[in-house]
Amino acid sequence: MEMTCPVCKGRSTGKIGQNTFYCWDCCVEFRVDEGRVSVFELDEEGTVLPFQESPDETYANPEA
Ligand SMILES: [Zn+2]
Repeated sequence: MEMTCPVCKGRSTGKIGQNTFYCWDCCVEFRVDEGRVSVFELDEEGTVLPFQESPDETYANPEA
């Protein structure tokens, strides 16, 4: 069974864990848990971070 990447909708994915997959196009990791998909990205040191698809809600940009 192939998993489609939730980010790019591509199929360049590989299974790396029980419910964990990796997209070679986006270089993101995503996990499928009871129908929910959580996406993570890896930084240069290999730390897993929550993937932010649209960072338009930023708290680091207060009103001037
Ligand atoms: Zn992808």
